[in-house]
Amino acid sequence: MLRKGKEYIESLKDLKPRVYFLGKRIESVVNHPFFKPHITAAAMTYELAHHPQYREVMTAKSHLTNEKVNRFTHIHRSIDDLVKKVKMMRILGQKTGTCFQRCVGLDALNALYIVTHEIDSGEGTNYHQRFIEYLKYIQGGDLMPAGAMTDPKGVRNLKPHQQPDPDLYVHVVEKGKEGIVVRGAKCQITGAVNSHEIIVLPTRTMRKEDSDYAVAFSVPVDEKGVTLIVSRQTNDTRRLEAEIDAGNPKYGVVGGEALIVFDDVFVPWERVFMCGEYKYSLELVEAFSSHHRSNYGGCKVGIADVAIGACKWIADSHGLTNVYHIRDKLTEMVQLAETCWSCSLACAYEGYRTKSGAYMVNPLLANVVKLNITRMTYEWMRLAQDIAGGTIITMPSELDYRNPDVGRYIEKFYRVKEEIPTEHRMRMMRLIENIAVGAGLPESLHGAGSPGAQKVMIERRSNLEEKKKLAEIIAGIKEDEHFRDIWEMSEKEFFTLFKGGETKK
Ligand code: SF4
Ligand code: FE
Repeated sequence: MLRKGKEYIESLKDLKPRVYFLGKRIESVVNHPFFKPHITAAAMTYELAHHPQYREVMTAKSHLTNEKVNRFTHIHRSIDDLVKKVKMMRILGQKTGTCFQRCVGLDALNALYIVTHEIDSGEGTNYHQRFIEYLKYIQGGDLMPAGAMTDPKGVRNLKPHQQPDPDLYVHVVEKGKEGIVVRGAKCQITGAVNSHEIIVLPTRTMRKEDSDYAVAFSVPVDEKGVTLIVSRQTNDTRRLEAEIDAGNPKYGVVGGEALIVFDDVFVPWERVFMCGEYKYSLELVEAFSSHHRSNYGGCKVGIADVAIGACKWIADSHGLTNVYHIRDKLTEMVQLAETCWSCSLACAYEGYRTKSGAYMVNPLLANVVKLNITRMTYEWMRLAQDIAGGTIITMPSELDYRNPDVGRYIEKFYRVKEEIPTEHRMRMMRLIENIAVGAGLPESLHGAGSPGAQKVMIERRSNLEEKKKLAEIIAGIKEDEHFRDIWEMSEKEFFTLFKGGETKK
């Protein structure tokens, strides 16, 4: 099944998740204006799959059923799949100017595909087949699962079983013939309220003592015992007040995150994909986070494309098209964004086939992508703020612009070139405010893991001992076994190499 955008929105109406926002129970996220932009952004992942220009990138052939599926439910089967995935991210960033949320579930599916295979090979379990059946269900219904990884974590230097409150990491509280019962919570989960399913993965490496916390499973978003409490974001309720003030009224800010509480939730065995196999938690965390971190040079660069375009629009409308420092800043924004894009492409091209048959991105490069994003996004957004000017944070509201008493003053004093309507300038300024000042910046820092997490993985794979050996050879401390014949030549022998090809025995 390949749902269209509207069909995805329709499908959410059948779900009855327990959602709270601003102190109130939300009966239907689809019928509440606050959630409309997030839902519309996710709907774009469905809609473009039907568009002739994007179909090739947005869809794939399922290796399980041979049916055409949305790439957001596909298991990467080649380098080409990995490349298309990141291209899809950039296109969607350009089309929405925000987070379209569906990647977390995609990365969770791919990580579980790889690691359930590993667990079965090592432990003789049957998680992989179980997971394949689940994957068919997701692909068949073109469903959107949220990927839920981050636990509240409590006291950071204590392991899960050492926490004074045992629920600060999701854990198994009961195991029975039919399934397990889980308790705990996952924080800041992207797209949670408008997903069909929630896939839960462990957030860190577990040891034997933490076996109950080494658990991966899935539940429908409206499963009994699941509660979602929606996060606040900078300027989030502006969308309920005035369209222009919202900045990106169609697609919102970041990904509509939520705290997901699991209050003794029953999970049948067919939906349990890890239960106590703590030795594989590191692999699962690495597989998921590498896939997810490699995305950021796609989605954030797509958003950067929108920001660069908005800055160019503002510069032109201000009559600054040919001013050198503006051109220089725009060029620098492009250079920074394309650097991150190159990194994401490199992750895909340097990917490899795992034993499961699924392809994995290069984990070292994936972490480099994300670490670059934690810095470079701030840099290109700083340049965006610089080009746009202080107006992005001082401009009056659309409500005053529409007010018959004072609107004409705003019309007059916020006008630049005669041919450019004031309203258009206000829209562009608010868009830059939304992208370059809003919650997207800390999301670039902490989404998919904070910089420290990337550094841990980069260090683990940095191969410093190998690099040390390279230096020792160049410094003359160690011999280069590959070029010994040159080093063993006398000076006279060496120089004869240059005399008309005359070589000496
Ligand atoms: Fe996808 Fe990017 Fe949003 Fe993560 S931040 S869910 S990779 S769009
Ligand atoms: Fe994110």
